[in-house]
Amino acid sequence: MQVSNRLNTINGTGDDGWGLFNRSRKMIADGVKITELTIGEHDIRTDASILDAMHASAKGGHTGYATIPGTNALRDAVAARIQSRTGVPTTRANIMITPGGQSALYATHLAALDHGDTALFIDPHYATYPGTVRGVGGVPVAIAATPENDFQPQIAELAAAASDPRAKSLLINTPNNPTGVVYSRDTLDGIAQVCKDHDLWLISDEVYDTQVWDGDHLSPRALPDMAARTMVVGSMSKSHAMTGSRVGWICAPEDMTEHLINLATNTNYGVPGFIQDAALFALNAGEALETQVAAPFRRRRDLTLAALAGQNVVQIVPAQGAMYVMLDIRATGLSSWDFANALLDQEHIAVMPGESFGAAASGHIRVAMTIDDAAYVDAINRLVNFAKSRISEK
Ligand code: PMP
Repeated sequence: MQVSNRLNTINGTGDDGWGLFNRSRKMIADGVKITELTIGEHDIRTDASILDAMHASAKGGHTGYATIPGTNALRDAVAARIQSRTGVPTTRANIMITPGGQSALYATHLAALDHGDTALFIDPHYATYPGTVRGVGGVPVAIAATPENDFQPQIAELAAAASDPRAKSLLINTPNNPTGVVYSRDTLDGIAQVCKDHDLWLISDEVYDTQVWDGDHLSPRALPDMAARTMVVGSMSKSHAMTGSRVGWICAPEDMTEHLINLATNTNYGVPGFIQDAALFALNAGEALETQVAAPFRRRRDLTLAALAGQNVVQIVPAQGAMYVMLDIRATGLSSWDFANALLDQEHIAVMPGESFGAAASGHIRVAMTIDDAAYVDAINRLVNFAKSRISEK
């Protein structure tokens, strides 16, 4: 039977970027002990108190079809959290609960683009972005944010891409996966201006909003006149270590939220009630729980800086947030793929080649800070020694 062209081409024509990860998983299956610093999954599990709330809700009968935009209580809690963090008036009418951030990325692009429209996004980028755009029939166009600019996108380049009349949306992600960079106020002001000048939707992926190491998270929805053209993607995955629960949200203008609810009615039909009740319990636990979940990454960011001090073979990109650090390994003369493959073979350490997130991260590797502190520091030390040995071989 024929498969639709859209699905056949959803991954594009290039490498899907997961080759090294798959090879490392195969080695593990074959019994090799690998230190995995690849995917963005916490080394703690969902807190037992959240699971108790989930269990109590399910036992209490919240196992039928749940209300599609989300329960009033959860939408109110998400709206209150956003309003208190950003100062932007936000009510339940702005919020739709989604099965995780990924489905919110899909829904927001479907809402912003007609078939053949262009969706702008920044390279390097989270792995699924181009496929999400293709999946809704859009055309993904990447704008490079380069190491020379500390991976902050350049506004003139964004404006040039946005001046294409087919461009309808711009997707940004700060704190950023894969770079760990947080966009500056100037960058965000420039992005907001481009969206207003060229009538773009801004899709703001803020799934790492609780993981900002210096200063506070700034949501571009809070910038002047941006609330009317911004759709914020949020998620409990990273902030509350609830990756497997599949619960997140979209915060959008009220009229857009109505359309998104129609879409959910015709696609996923909402999020299970007991998951929503667990998410409500987790949000009600307040900032203390969020800080506790983020703490290991803040600590390991500092451990990385300490481990890299006193040498200049491996340089760190300014690490300001999220669960990752991006390391510049260009001094070794190896490509990111060659470095990562050799590190896997010789040191049994798996990291992601920068290029698996886009060409702008060539010569870099992404390290997920997702193992315990002692093993993590040991891995960074071995990685640095490996890089030094490559230089002395030159
Ligand atoms: N956006 C970014 C930048 C991510 O890194 C991830 C997950 N790694 C997601 C969205 C999707 O997360 P989820 O669907 O678990 O909420």
